[in-house]
Amino acid sequence: MHRREVLAGLAAAGAGALLPRFAVAEIPAGAGTVRTVSDGNLVLPRSFVLGGLPEEELAPILKAHGVSGDQLTPPCNVTLYQDDTRTVLFDVGAGATFMPSAGELFESLDAAGVAPEDVTEVVFTHAHPDHLWGLLDDFGDPAFPNARLMMGRAEWDYWTDPETVNTIGAERQAFAVGAARRLEMVADQMEFFEDDDEVLPGIVAVGTFGHTPGHMSFDVGGGDGVFVIGDAVANAHVAFARPGWATANDQDPETAAATRTALMGRLAEEARTVIGFHLPHGGTGRVVAEGDGYRFEAADS
Ligand SMILES: [Zn+2]
Repeated sequence: MHRREVLAGLAAAGAGALLPRFAVAEIPAGAGTVRTVSDGNLVLPRSFVLGGLPEEELAPILKAHGVSGDQLTPPCNVTLYQDDTRTVLFDVGAGATFMPSAGELFESLDAAGVAPEDVTEVVFTHAHPDHLWGLLDDFGDPAFPNARLMMGRAEWDYWTDPETVNTIGAERQAFAVGAARRLEMVADQMEFFEDDDEVLPGIVAVGTFGHTPGHMSFDVGGGDGVFVIGDAVANAHVAFARPGWATANDQDPETAAATRTALMGRLAEEARTVIGFHLPHGGTGRVVAEGDGYRFEAADS
């Protein structure tokens, strides 16, 4: 069976859980353009993201954003950058094996007129399953056969450390096993960068640690361009309203909260266009100061 048929079958099987899709316009960024392509959405237990937060303060925030129930269904927006010579993906989605509601990147790329062979570089924000596991196709072969692969050095070191599976905690043990297996298979191809490196022309890595030990954001094209924030700001409700809250979805909640607080201040101040991997309406918009916190102003709303 061809890979596309396998994926189409899965997508159809999970259709009941799918969220509305957003056709996101191309945005000029540096020498090229940026848009997002959907990988579907996640279905997460509420406690994985919001566990341990003060319920009295939390309830009105969630209500204001229409969030209720025991599950959260964050969308997954993969950023696609294209210029005259490059087709760059920021992360590769979840692949076929993580969740039935995710792993739709191939269909979305196809709809955008991009073949897997066209991708020249894959730049990773971090190595969680919904960002990394699409690296290999259903047959264990590289899903983007012509792409250079690039990851922050600290992120690589963490997930390839044999001790990580023992220290990460039971809830994320499968993340560690899954990352280590995939990264081992591409170890010879991976290229590394550090905080503040120009990863590709006009694309600068910005260390935004805490969600994972080596999580990176990317400034694409400077002030008028786009800031790819990955999971440094991973939802449009609590992360915006209370960026300083330490939340369970971050591996180091205290560091992530400090990172998020500083990042939100900067993004609002500079009125940057941001792309968040799990933000709504295709993930593209701005950070706007509101009350003690911020709100997400989606580009398409
Ligand atoms: Zn994520």
